[in-house]
Amino acid sequence: MAAYLKIKSQFFEHPSESHLVNLASGGFNYWMSFVTDPLTVLFFLFWEAFVLRTNPIGLVLSYGAGLLSWSLLEYTFHRWVYHKGRTPAHHGHTLHHESPQMLIAMPWFIVTVFLACVWYVFAYRLQLHFVLGFFAALTTGFVFYGVFHHIHHHFNFQNPRYRRLRAHHIIHHQYPNVNFGVTSRLWDHVFGTRYSKEVKKRERGNIASPLMTDK
Ligand SMILES: [Zn+2]
Ligand SMILES: [Zn+2]
Repeated sequence: MAAYLKIKSQFFEHPSESHLVNLASGGFNYWMSFVTDPLTVLFFLFWEAFVLRTNPIGLVLSYGAGLLSWSLLEYTFHRWVYHKGRTPAHHGHTLHHESPQMLIAMPWFIVTVFLACVWYVFAYRLQLHFVLGFFAALTTGFVFYGVFHHIHHHFNFQNPRYRRLRAHHIIHHQYPNVNFGVTSRLWDHVFGTRYSKEVKKRERGNIASPLMTDK
């Protein structure tokens, strides 16, 4: 909480921005998204399969495309939105880096309202196939991101493969310019942001902004 108050006074010149991060903090918001997002996934799949009567193979393919897209979106958001600029998302993520055990998450209703708009425009009004299947998978990925991220900071399972993934994220907290993947290490390999001894040396030289890049 002390870290929260410190960063709050440091960053938030605008009351609306401070209010948004207040909404993102705390157990109620944190746990609500673990309820509303899976329910939205079920609703989207139900609507796609039984109301729009989408071909099952097409539904599976659109869901698979959504899962792959999530993986890249997770990396993109973490690297270029959570760690850049002066947005509430960046400030909220800074709080998480300062205080990794604190329960802070995107306000649950922002995701729900956005997905409700997707449903209304693309499925209810335009009756397009595959859009809900795709967004159901994106939302599934978002839920897995939340689950994995929570486990990384609150548990320590012994499975060797999982331990490598957890270490990947814990290193990110120490060196915020590397290891952006949370559910997968794939995109850090692809974009060359995987932690290495060379990166460590460079990071040690860059002590002007040890916590976040903010450029
Ligand atoms: Zn973290
Ligand atoms: Zn981060």
